[in-house]
Amino acid sequence: MARVINFSAGPAALPVPVLERARDEMTDWHGCGMSVMEVSHRGPEFKAIASKAEDDLRRLLGVPDNYRVLFLQGGATLQFSAIPLNLAAPNALVDYVVTGSWGKKAVAEARRYANTAVVADGAEGNYTGIPDPASWTRREHAAYLHYTPNETIGGVEFHDIPDSPGVPLVADFSSTILSRPLDVSRFGLIYAGAQKNIGPAGLTIVIVDESLLGHARETTPAMLDYSKQADAGSMSNTPPTYAWYIAGLVFEWLLEQGGLEAMGEKNREKAARLYGAIDQSAFYANPVEPAARSWMNVPFTLADPALDSRFLELAGAAGLKNLKGHRSVGGMRASIYNAIPLEHVETLISFMAEFERRHG
Ligand SMILES: *Cc1c(COP(=O)(O)O)cnc(C)c1O
Repeated sequence: MARVINFSAGPAALPVPVLERARDEMTDWHGCGMSVMEVSHRGPEFKAIASKAEDDLRRLLGVPDNYRVLFLQGGATLQFSAIPLNLAAPNALVDYVVTGSWGKKAVAEARRYANTAVVADGAEGNYTGIPDPASWTRREHAAYLHYTPNETIGGVEFHDIPDSPGVPLVADFSSTILSRPLDVSRFGLIYAGAQKNIGPAGLTIVIVDESLLGHARETTPAMLDYSKQADAGSMSNTPPTYAWYIAGLVFEWLLEQGGLEAMGEKNREKAARLYGAIDQSAFYANPVEPAARSWMNVPFTLADPALDSRFLELAGAAGLKNLKGHRSVGGMRASIYNAIPLEHVETLISFMAEFERRHG
């Protein structure tokens, strides 16, 4: 069967050359006579895979030497707890900016561990934009300020890094990491579940300024303690070896594409084309303020929601899969991560135009 165009929000499409390479190396990795799944995480084969993946990720993002890169499990969701446990004492203040569903979930976990405040909330605008940073009611002595650079469900993205003088910035990059260049030095910590724009589910990347390490509270489970994981090379226990290996193949692929500068240009173009098509149509609509529109997740509605199921049915028959919007917002959502080339976005745009012509 031919491959479909997969607009899933996550787990999401992977680059075909990465899948082909994994296939070719499946039963015998580099002549060792075993698959990556079958080798010890402490053996020479996996050590080589692990350190190359870290080096390539550091190169891609220009990670400064004073940051540690961790390859963990538990998804971005477990980091919602790990972050306050590592960075905030029980009575510490922790500040959150909420621009959608994932930010709300991060706050709900933080409340269990620290004096948590929502210093800005996009609820008033129904999460279609980013509250003006001048209005954020931040606390000067907060242990950190957390935000969600890209809200995967609502399709709301920060296109600039907010200033956070004196307070470490912590950010959930799950659905936008590696989509463009990033100045890691502006952050205390960034984290991302792998299954959107990195690789398979089961792997979570944390990049943390080492000056923030060493303050985990006493009761922090060892597996969630960043210093312990950093000291153990992210191998406090058996890491998700295969997911780590595939992520490494994705990093190599990104470097071959010209790195994040080149990916950023492609992603900007993909998003511009798709939003352009939506905006010039009276049939499709996207509610997000133009300045906050996500490059990665593009939600859109049809003028008549009764046509949604027909749209999905015909799209599926044309090989355009997983366009159904999140149940909380309805409509459609096209996730156009790094593995989706411009041609696939153009195929979607043509399909949308044809659907509008026939049904609009
Ligand atoms: C998908 C997603 C999550 C949840 O990730 P898990 O790895 O499933 O825990 C958290 N935050 C954002 C922004 C996401 O897109």
